[in-house]
Amino acid sequence: TPPVRNICCVGAGYVGGPTAAVIAFQNPHIRVTVVDRDERRIRRWNSQHPPIYEPGLTDILRIARDGSKEVVLHNAPSKHDASDSVSSGLTTPPSDAESNCAGNNRLIRVAARQPNLFFTTDIARSISEADVVLIAVNTPTKNRGVGAGSATDMAAFEAVTAVVAQHARPGAIIVEKSTVPCRTAQLVYQTLSLHRPGVHFEVISNPEFLAAGTAIKDLLYADRILIGSSNTPAGYRAASALADVYAAWIPRSRIITTNVFSSELAKLVANSMLAQRISSINSISAICDATGADVDEVASAIGADPRIGSKFLRAGIGFGGSCFKKDVLSLVYLAETLILPEVADYWRAVINMNEFARNRFVSRVIRCLNNTLAGKKVTVLGYAFKKDTNDTRESPALDIIRTLEEEGPREIAIFDPCCIPTQMTDEIGRFVRKDVLKENGGPVAVYADVYAACEGSDAVLITTEFDEFKSPTGKEGLAIPVKQKTRLTDPRPFEQPEPKENELLALHSYLVSDSDTDDPLGRLYPVPACDDECPDCQVERTT
Ligand code: NAD
Repeated sequence: TPPVRNICCVGAGYVGGPTAAVIAFQNPHIRVTVVDRDERRIRRWNSQHPPIYEPGLTDILRIARDGSKEVVLHNAPSKHDASDSVSSGLTTPPSDAESNCAGNNRLIRVAARQPNLFFTTDIARSISEADVVLIAVNTPTKNRGVGAGSATDMAAFEAVTAVVAQHARPGAIIVEKSTVPCRTAQLVYQTLSLHRPGVHFEVISNPEFLAAGTAIKDLLYADRILIGSSNTPAGYRAASALADVYAAWIPRSRIITTNVFSSELAKLVANSMLAQRISSINSISAICDATGADVDEVASAIGADPRIGSKFLRAGIGFGGSCFKKDVLSLVYLAETLILPEVADYWRAVINMNEFARNRFVSRVIRCLNNTLAGKKVTVLGYAFKKDTNDTRESPALDIIRTLEEEGPREIAIFDPCCIPTQMTDEIGRFVRKDVLKENGGPVAVYADVYAACEGSDAVLITTEFDEFKSPTGKEGLAIPVKQKTRLTDPRPFEQPEPKENELLALHSYLVSDSDTDDPLGRLYPVPACDDECPDCQVERTT
């Protein structure tokens, strides 16, 4: 198999964009084109304000897309994206860069290079020029028809497969980057042979393990790259060609090759087991609240056992995001279709426990406020599903806002450091109801300033674990204006009395989600891509 010279990635979303950008960044000799049918999304990828926020992403784009001659990355944490270089791990330069430190700044000089990363809507042409086509489109849960509520909606994936079949050059390697049900590769082969009978393509499974908020770091320092292929000489050659692309920066020992179905299933299992740990510790949290045991102490005691490990053991309001729930449900559906009801029930319990954790939190908030929110202001800090991302899909905050709104509060004030206020307002109007918004006479108000959001509030709920929310009275965190007294932890029956009237309650219930990130720098506000005035950012998410 000749070396890969041209890659086309279909889907310019949270996975396609960053993954293609890092592949291009690490392989200056490969031309990488990202295509999407969403013109507005592509326009933003070509602007100074990419449609998604990821620490370090703008630096990678500056090098691979813009072909900068020299890039200077600053080590000092600041409000601006220069600080992203540190948390994204970009201070480890690409192999062709020089680096030296000067005071607080680390200068990284990247050798002059031509742009090799492109974003376009010209899907057919880009596919026809590629040696490798990565399919990275969305695969959400089906919401109608057979399997609604648990099966994977393969409409976008299948549509792209048909387009790829029509335009790909003979011998092109077709890669499943999207998370797909086990045995999808077989369907891809069938679609390809239906549209291009007699033409040979290899189908590879190469699932993505990055987590929103740490995508660039996860891609640069991947624990493993999983490549599944058919067990044939042509399959092995295709797997090896793709492995060479990753080997530009990932040690060969971390590139795992398997059969194609193992690779597809491994992605579902990885997310399901991570979700299961969160549900497990949340179930224990409920026992702790009723007994006086402390769930954080229990977690650190059990996490010291290397067979258990300490990560993903933080109790909270459960997992959110576009992946965990849908991937567990996909596993549930797979088990059901294989007539394995016990297996399906086992994994469905993970979802049930997640919902229980979220409901338990909101009930406690309402109980702490004397079972009525009438006339009260409640502040929700954090709207994205986890820190350092503007991804709001399946965010627990939205569910919490919905439940709080039913209690008839005077105001629900919302603030998020990564999301753009106009987009949050628009989304709440669509997913809850238009008339809950302040502008339509309802209680929900989105703030651009955290202190204004907290001003005069009866309770401050921390629903996303942004660092700036971590120590409300500490130097690095947020100084919440306190009416009488700030309570920093969840009220526990054996430790703390009920709050007094008008007491400000800061309920820390950090969301535990796709990754355990311990950013040692504790940055202050990671600013959103740009302000409301920017025409590029007036574009709303469409997926
Ligand atoms: P996304 O919704 O952000 O992006 C998908 C993109 O595909 C959209 O821009 C959409 O316009 C485009 N698209 C859809 N149909 C198309 C078509 N017919 N032609 C061209 N473009 C089309 O989704 P995402 O979060 O990037 O997820 C993509 C896949 O990666 C999913 O299968 C997901 O499960 C998986 N995944 C996601 C994450 C994550 O953190 N978001 C992590 C690992 C894996």
